[in-house]
Amino acid sequence: MSDDCIFCKIIRGEIPSSKIYEDKDFFAFLDIRPINKGHSLIIPKVHCKGILDFPRAEETDFLEVIKKVAGAVVKAVDADGFNLGMNTGAAAGQIVFHAHMHIIPRFEGDGLKSWPHKELSREEMDETHKRILSALK
Ligand code: AMP
Ligand code: ZN
Repeated sequence: MSDDCIFCKIIRGEIPSSKIYEDKDFFAFLDIRPINKGHSLIIPKVHCKGILDFPRAEETDFLEVIKKVAGAVVKAVDADGFNLGMNTGAAAGQIVFHAHMHIIPRFEGDGLKSWPHKELSREEMDETHKRILSALK
């Protein structure tokens, strides 16, 4: 737990939230500025910044909770699909630095567009490919 973290405060009940799920390790609530109806956030109770420092022992359970909550959200708002997302780092749009999985219900024709694609040269692709393979060694 972190004293000045807004999501730790939500877990402790110091800031109100529309809680939808809680167990010993996880907490889920409605996003206060939803992208679509039912937009929810699932967070680990232990304070960590993102997926890279997420506690290993909780990884499998996290996926189970995501499936459980996403299924319920989709059913509740009669969604046609959903996006899962974890913004990681300020450059990726992370504002709250306590790991959280967004569940964003999607509806046919809801007008939300996916990110624009880029054209990379063959050389840039090959160089990136090589660097990632090397980083994975
Ligand atoms: P991110 O940009 O991935 O860090 O997303 C943070 C999310 O937390 C945003 O979608 C906010 O709308 C949401 N948020 C921030 N404060 C609260 C709050 N008090 N209750 C519910 N959601 C919040
Ligand atoms: Zn926190």
